[in-house]
Amino acid sequence: MIDLETLKNLLAEPKKIVITTHHRPDGDAMGSSLGLFNYFIQKGHFVKVIAPSDYPYFLHWLPNNPEVIIYPTEVQKSNQLVAEADLIFCLDFNTLSRINELGDEVRKASGIKIMIDHHLEPEGFDDYRHWNIGACATAQLIYDFIVHQLGDKKAINKDIATCLYTGIMTDSGSFRFPTVTAELHRIVADLIDAGAENWRIHQLVYDNSSEERLKFLGYCLSNKLEVLREYNTAVIHISKEEIKKFNIKTGETEGIVNYALSINGIRLAAFIVERDDKVKLSLRSTGDFPANEICKRYFEGGGHRNAAGGQSDLPLLEVLEKFKAILPEYKNLLLQ
Ligand code: 5GP
Ligand code: MN
Repeated sequence: MIDLETLKNLLAEPKKIVITTHHRPDGDAMGSSLGLFNYFIQKGHFVKVIAPSDYPYFLHWLPNNPEVIIYPTEVQKSNQLVAEADLIFCLDFNTLSRINELGDEVRKASGIKIMIDHHLEPEGFDDYRHWNIGACATAQLIYDFIVHQLGDKKAINKDIATCLYTGIMTDSGSFRFPTVTAELHRIVADLIDAGAENWRIHQLVYDNSSEERLKFLGYCLSNKLEVLREYNTAVIHISKEEIKKFNIKTGETEGIVNYALSINGIRLAAFIVERDDKVKLSLRSTGDFPANEICKRYFEGGGHRNAAGGQSDLPLLEVLEKFKAILPEYKNLLLQ
């Protein structure tokens, strides 16, 4: 482990830096990665963002997005960057399995590993951590890192503010989850002062659906939504063929699970989708219900109490049945 003073001293000189984030990056993953990237280039470091997989088009407008390397498309170059990096920043995840094969490269790299994250149960691969499970978004922790740990608030420019606003907005469900505090709103106010155009960011992320995506949403809600009132649970399951039929791209299924959770009385919602190699589950819950516990115990996953994910190698319909079969065990909690 190293302390903050050591890290600050290291950052005082130009360094080779790699920033990486979790598989299938979301708004917080890319917002915090590009927010930190835009900070480090301002400070004269040599810095690259490596994403373990591609991510949705509605994040491609983020400032300096073209600088991001998608690992599977440039494996050799990425491995070299990781091996030669002085510092490796790991954002919005805390176990190396979340970055796929890139995880082995990071594990064996000699660079100092800095983890900035808000998920439960870190694996412990890091040399320095800024970790707070109470934080609403990793982007909030990046703000905190730059402003309070590095004491560099004046460096927050429009590009950085735009990226961090995006991360906070997406991970807070547009400022509606219990993790949103007065303090978070003060941070958001600072980001708007620094140039984040809040209305524009909302539009670019949320009002940017393809026609197919909207029609697919309509299909999910009218044809595929199952409401299991006896368990206050709603579930939508989608096959590979359905994804293909509607021409649904990476990230376009995001948020659909929230419609299932928006039904009155529903405490747990699941979106189960068949991908190329496995079946992926997205769970959302309200209040104390531990969606992450179900993902961890039954679906090789995890996450937050109210937003968690996992996967299974079983066929789609068997995953659906497995999910339903788990509900009786949680009946008391679901009916509270
Ligand atoms: P989503 O449903 O949007 O894919 O994921 C919601 C949250 O669950 C993510 O922010 C992440 O914390 C967590 N999550 C999703 N998939 C996985 C997974 O496969 N493993 C773990 N540990 N967490 C996951
Ligand atoms: Mn996050």
